[in-house]
Amino acid sequence: MKKNTINRYIFSMGVMLFSTSLVAAPPHWTYQEQSIWGALDDISQTVVPLMYPYAECTIGSHQSPIDLSTNTHERPSNRLKIKYEYDAAPDFFNSGHAAQVNLPSDYPGRLFIGKDAYPLIQFHFHAPSEHVIGSKTFPAEIHFVHIREDGKMAVLGVLLDDQDDIENPDFQKILDNMPTAPATHNINSGVRLNPMSLLPEHKKHVFNYAGSLTTPPCSEGVNWYVLSEPVNVSKSQITQLESIYNENKRVPQNLNGRTVNIHSH
Ligand SMILES: [Zn+2]
Repeated sequence: MKKNTINRYIFSMGVMLFSTSLVAAPPHWTYQEQSIWGALDDISQTVVPLMYPYAECTIGSHQSPIDLSTNTHERPSNRLKIKYEYDAAPDFFNSGHAAQVNLPSDYPGRLFIGKDAYPLIQFHFHAPSEHVIGSKTFPAEIHFVHIREDGKMAVLGVLLDDQDDIENPDFQKILDNMPTAPATHNINSGVRLNPMSLLPEHKKHVFNYAGSLTTPPCSEGVNWYVLSEPVNVSKSQITQLESIYNENKRVPQNLNGRTVNIHSH
């Protein structure tokens, strides 16, 4: 396959993973029924386990999100470097489960873990946050989804805080251009975005653990990084985000013996 073809394939895979409502076969799901995601059946299938396409949500032992304050270990790590670039033509996508921004297939933005580069495919928002730190839940959380050409995934989580009530201009562009109808794209906004402006100033303190997608099919093998410092947004921006999707969060999952590594670069 040519590189472009591979990129397009990975891109569509990313979209499929995070917007299952667009795929014909897997069953529809909602956040209200998250305790039974693993038992939702695909009526076009008669054979177990194919009948239960989201079984991993229930039987998986490395599920996300989690409480990041549990079983933590300070540990030296591969250097994490975030290099996102301007996106001249963002695709504002209401996925049916979240407000999402899809990057074009030739987007050069990457997350570097040591020497490994993970291209940024899309990012989306949860309100409130899915990851918690002890008893602390944040008003919202961004997931920057990176998928390498070999299929390996790394997700960068960024917590949003509205305590200081500071408006974030790029977050506002996203809110104002996001379609309100599910499964709808807005690709002609003419807006330019720099995802770097959705990151906190200090990026050196990071929680890292082995987890999964937080939505069906809850696939494992996701390398999670969550920045400990939240990014500031305004209270009215949180309200506007909640008017698109609210309570699109999965509850924290059992650690099952996993450790949470705390990296300080
Ligand atoms: Zn997410």
